[in-house]
Amino acid sequence: MTGAVTVKKIGFIGLGIMGGPMAAHLVAAGHEVTGFNLERAAVDRLIAAGGKGAESVHEAVRDADVVITMVPADPHVEKVMYGDGGVLGSVKPGTLVIDMSSIKPSTSIAVAQAGAEHKLRVLDAPVSGGEAGAIEAVLSIMVGGEAADFAAALPLFEALGKTIVHVGPHGAGQTVKAANQLIVAGNIQLVAEALLFLERAGVDTEAGLTVLAGGLAGSTVMDRKGRVMRDRDFKPGFRIDLHHKDMGIVTESAREFDLVLPLAGLTAQLVASLRAQGGGGLDHSGLLLGLERLNGGPQDSSSKQGDN
Ligand code: NAD
Repeated sequence: MTGAVTVKKIGFIGLGIMGGPMAAHLVAAGHEVTGFNLERAAVDRLIAAGGKGAESVHEAVRDADVVITMVPADPHVEKVMYGDGGVLGSVKPGTLVIDMSSIKPSTSIAVAQAGAEHKLRVLDAPVSGGEAGAIEAVLSIMVGGEAADFAAALPLFEALGKTIVHVGPHGAGQTVKAANQLIVAGNIQLVAEALLFLERAGVDTEAGLTVLAGGLAGSTVMDRKGRVMRDRDFKPGFRIDLHHKDMGIVTESAREFDLVLPLAGLTAQLVASLRAQGGGGLDHSGLLLGLERLNGGPQDSSSKQGDN
């Protein structure tokens, strides 16, 4: 015990833009964190922050009380969970396995079922708040699974985020995350359209954004992205490639539910279009660039496109 913290042995898989700072916060909260990541540099950063490094998933998780995974997409989660030396075959019965990646609800349900066969407790706990939210430990965390497992994980979530909600059974966290991604992409597209509209009319965009942000049109997207979009700074942040994956989850799930979501379909196509034009590595605020191309190309050739 360190003060009020019950020290947990945590195996952390996936130390990228999000997982890196999240693992470091768990170290700072007093836990023993052993991390594994495909690129070694990220493991070295965790060691520098006071954690331990591992050479494989198996080594990172075999002695853990809790395993956290934060990898890009469904195939990565499946490989980490079910692959040779994967989580399910490596951990002790009773281990709490928390996947915080954004993936399909059906994949999370399958992982929970496979985990139960190994006597593991599984939660899906995707996050919102972006890189800044991870660094500042103010993420929103939407959790699916058993209430008792959520209660056991809550002290760890509190080291990572501010708004932490148990939203339902296995997969429900992912469903809420997909809804989040639909709202964010649609909102970015509308802020892009409003910006171009103001610019075409010759209205001062600084004044326009300031007053819009204070009224019903205001949003976190407008606050965080409005000015970087106006300045055409599309350095990621959250890559179009990942948002394309998330819009696929929205549209596939809607089809499974026999649900018609017109703007989800259109927004997914606009994200796919920017990606098809080579914009997969841009921040999702790059939807403004896609819109400019629909209008005959950027007016200003100084647009910054980030590391594409
Ligand atoms: P990232 O690509 O920066 O990091 C993912 C890391 O996982 C990489 O460093 C990669 O090496 C590692 N990885 C992949 N397969 C692995 C394996 N088999 N074993 C070990 N490590 C492996 O991605 P990210 O931006 O940190 O996103 C992670 C997840 O969080 C995604 O599902 C994303 O949709 C979600 N998310 C991202 C953001 C954001 O703003 N970046 C915000 C909310 C949610």
